[in-house]
Amino acid sequence: MRKRKIKTKHGVIQTPAFLPDATYGSIKSISFDDAKNVGIKELVTTTLHIENKLGSEYIKKFGGIHKFFGWNRPILTDSGGFQVFSLIHAARKKAGKRAELNNKITDAGCSFINPDNGQTKFLSPEISQIIQFNLGADIVTALDEPTQRDAPLSVLKKGIRRNTQWAKRSKKKFLELHDLSENDFDDPKIKRPLIGAVIQGGNNFKLREESAKQLIDIGFDMYNFGGVPLHNRLSWKNDANKGFFNELLTSVAELIPEDKIRYAMGVGTPDDIIFCVQNGWDIFDTVLPTRNARHGYLYVDMGKGENHKIKDKHTISYDVIHIKAKKYEFDERAISENCDCEACGENGVTRAYLRHLIRIKEPAGFRLATIHNLHFYSKLMLQLRK
Ligand SMILES: [Zn+2]
Repeated sequence: MRKRKIKTKHGVIQTPAFLPDATYGSIKSISFDDAKNVGIKELVTTTLHIENKLGSEYIKKFGGIHKFFGWNRPILTDSGGFQVFSLIHAARKKAGKRAELNNKITDAGCSFINPDNGQTKFLSPEISQIIQFNLGADIVTALDEPTQRDAPLSVLKKGIRRNTQWAKRSKKKFLELHDLSENDFDDPKIKRPLIGAVIQGGNNFKLREESAKQLIDIGFDMYNFGGVPLHNRLSWKNDANKGFFNELLTSVAELIPEDKIRYAMGVGTPDDIIFCVQNGWDIFDTVLPTRNARHGYLYVDMGKGENHKIKDKHTISYDVIHIKAKKYEFDERAISENCDCEACGENGVTRAYLRHLIRIKEPAGFRLATIHNLHFYSKLMLQLRK
């Protein structure tokens, strides 16, 4: 495993690091103070969601997202590529071929309907960089085109060709916006945000390799494992084909130069993170701990929960309990005995009470469950960094 210190204008990111998703500028159900209290030091936000809801020009008036959010620690922004991909697929599902007229991806960029106001919007590599520049993120991302993992070979090939072109245009725009030359980019004395590019290629090892090589030739600070997330369902479970992805993730990590940041996007469950850390990946983001919390799936240390248990050489083992289950109706114990988060500590709540709050969808219950799950992830990362 690797330990790195990534310097940014808003502080150092110590890796391996887990960054929760502040999709619309907030980590769902909790405040930034809550996040800091459970050990969250950096976060990811979603470029396109912020652009569609508020517009980056609006954020710029406040001096950037750090000031607007009131969060003075590192922020990473995605490229918007995955959100466009999701919007277009959702529209096609709903309106079939008719949706093709308004939702199009060409070499120039992506046209899509903003679901908030029905207006047609356009996102190109250059526009994505301008938005992220206006937001003032510490780490930005080159626009990418995700493909379905199991898409036909011709689609995957076309996808990585376009992905590389877009990465090239993204970097050109990034340099222009920051008034930098190629030489400046490689000069460690010059302070600037970092930029990552997303390795695509679906399930195909050879195409992943081609994509990685082409992006490395262009030169970025960070290389991301892209595509449709490994866990995009409401699930804490592992996908059945986990072995295959472990092999793919390992081989892609080996392609990325030692001195560059390796970001496994959308990873993942605690076991996936442990696996990826042991195989050379540095940073991770996932909605799993926060989304699972709202559905009553809670991570507990060394418990005897009914669902899940792993043990690896770090001897980290955990269970997942579903707090809404009837068996917790009279359970007066804390969520997790070894946890000292606000939900479990001295003034914490019983499982029975939290079960009640989650069952009636009470925000206070979502908050406590989210605090607990994020605390679990923070502690896991701390153990991995030791
Ligand atoms: Zn707890």
